[in-house]
Amino acid sequence: MSGNAIDAEPGTVYLVGSGPGDPDLLTVKAKRLLEECDVVLHDKLPGPEIIDRLPEDRREDVGKRAGGERTPQSEINERLVELAREGKSVVRLKGGDSFVFGRGGEEAEYLAAHEVPFEVVPAVTSAIAAPAVAGIPVTHRDHASSVSFVTGHEDPTKAESAVDWDALAATGGTIVVLMGVGRLPDYTTALLEAGMAPETPVALVERGTWPGQRVATGTLETIVDARDEAGIEPPAVTVIGDVAGTRESVVEFLQNDYGAAGDAGAGE
Ligand code: SAH
Repeated sequence: MSGNAIDAEPGTVYLVGSGPGDPDLLTVKAKRLLEECDVVLHDKLPGPEIIDRLPEDRREDVGKRAGGERTPQSEINERLVELAREGKSVVRLKGGDSFVFGRGGEEAEYLAAHEVPFEVVPAVTSAIAAPAVAGIPVTHRDHASSVSFVTGHEDPTKAESAVDWDALAATGGTIVVLMGVGRLPDYTTALLEAGMAPETPVALVERGTWPGQRVATGTLETIVDARDEAGIEPPAVTVIGDVAGTRESVVEFLQNDYGAAGDAGAGE
């Protein structure tokens, strides 16, 4: 075996990505650490199939506090340090990849600042996997030579828009928006105003690889209606660009068997 063929080390934090939700898409390393570690800190994003398999007595849900509001990141950081200093081997499990809109970078910085040893375990990000299992390649020789991953839910404390939609429109490549269900009307309008063609294909992939995965498709002009008609909710990724249109030519033979309920159908 290459790399760190080790057991979960006491006093160490593992920043582990879970992949998009299908337990078969956990990395071998993630699976082994989940089996071996003393405690797992997680939220809901790894999805029901992965979370339900975590042993009750070794997991802490740090997604929401009693009362329903989000646990502040500072509290999670402190808990990681506290558990490590107790000598525990700790898995911090995030949906997708911890370093893609997962705040894993902040956790790494905090751990380093507190001299806690940690290891990063990369994973399959939903930004690529959710489109993929819906039959959409984020790049394609004929359609997109670049792909941008952006947040649709900007930090409200930021003074100005952190995402330059004009510049994104100008790339001519694929745009994958995470956390972008709610503000879909805002950024589709921004992209249209930036000169993107109204008929540009757009797909929403909800709960990619989870049981009940759904896909809604449309164009920059129609996707908001498609979202509303289908009732698409987070977590979902938005794929914008010609690659989203290629789905049509493969979907009949695509055997990724997620979502017994099938497509949302809207906009198709
Ligand atoms: N670290 C994660 C992203 C966290 S941000 C990753 O690499 O995938 C949270 C956003 O991720 C959600 O709002 C949604 O846009 C996206 N997301 C995560 N899991 C998803 C899934 N299974 N299907 C669709 N979108 C998902």
